[in-house]
Amino acid sequence: MIKVENLKKYFSTGIFGKKYVRAVDGVNFEIKYGETLGLVGESGCGKTTVGRLLLRLIEPTEGKIYFKNTNIIELSKKELRRLRPKMQIIFQNPDTSLDPRMKIGESIAEPIKLYKIVSKDKINEKVMELIDTVGLNPEHVNRYPHELSGGQNQRAVIARILAINPEFIVADEPTSSLDVNVQAQILSLLKNLKDKFGLTCLFISHDLEVIKVMTDEIAVMYLGKLVEMGKTVDIFNGARHPYTQALLSAIPVPDPDAKRKRILLPGEIPNPINPPAGCRFHTRCPYRERICEMVEPEMIDIGGGHKVACHLNH
Ligand code: ADP
Ligand code: MG
Repeated sequence: MIKVENLKKYFSTGIFGKKYVRAVDGVNFEIKYGETLGLVGESGCGKTTVGRLLLRLIEPTEGKIYFKNTNIIELSKKELRRLRPKMQIIFQNPDTSLDPRMKIGESIAEPIKLYKIVSKDKINEKVMELIDTVGLNPEHVNRYPHELSGGQNQRAVIARILAINPEFIVADEPTSSLDVNVQAQILSLLKNLKDKFGLTCLFISHDLEVIKVMTDEIAVMYLGKLVEMGKTVDIFNGARHPYTQALLSAIPVPDPDAKRKRILLPGEIPNPINPPAGCRFHTRCPYRERICEMVEPEMIDIGGGHKVACHLNH
């Protein structure tokens, strides 16, 4: 359903211009119909920028984004508007997605009216149906966002999105602002809805445990580039890139006797204005060799769609 080719986004910065934050720097991936791709990496690596580019909320510096064989970068504003309801985004913070002056019921009714999803006399019925689908109570329709919890508001956001029958959803850290127990409930709701409506998703998170339960495939991002991708099971059972291995080693083990060696990466993430030459990860890589400082590694398929960009075969 989604195919991304050589996607780049450079933000110009600095008082004198001419400096660019290379937030996304040549990213390629595909998402199959009905599947969920997890995009994972540390804060600042470019995940949100990829998500916003995919819906063309921001314009790319370079690259192609195909939604069902249409390169959406070439669409006019008018053509894009027609496609809008098919592609939707859930943000981290539900407060920014809901109008504080509108009751929850009105917020959910708004896109139904805008896109004329049902006839006027059926709008209330549709709102109540959605309220039920996302696990809210009928009395919530008359409340304002500040009268509900973060989890309940995120459910309302999801109802608003489902109202217009989307095909593709970007979920950008949709539970990161919520308490841990509420987080689990919202994740389970999202998982059920994905199956029920056959949604295709890009699921963005810095949390590999969340990614593990939510996704079919994973793409690991570091400093604007993908370093490894493949089926979720393959990545969890046999990560090949040292960066992915380090991320995985940081997941807490429930059994205190089970030992796992935590790989601690030295140093900070380099500045995306001036990323390291060669392999971008080499400044923090425990295995780096001379070639890593000079030559950028290509993404190589090591079998079964598992791809890794690393000179050293781990
Ligand atoms: P993530 O979601 O992985 O935390 P982002 O996509 O938000 O990362 O940001 C990637 C990089 O791009 C960061 O260095 C961030 O500071 C920079 N960035 C994001 N948006 C802008 C912007 N509008 N202008 C300048 N720099 C930006
Ligand atoms: Mg982000």
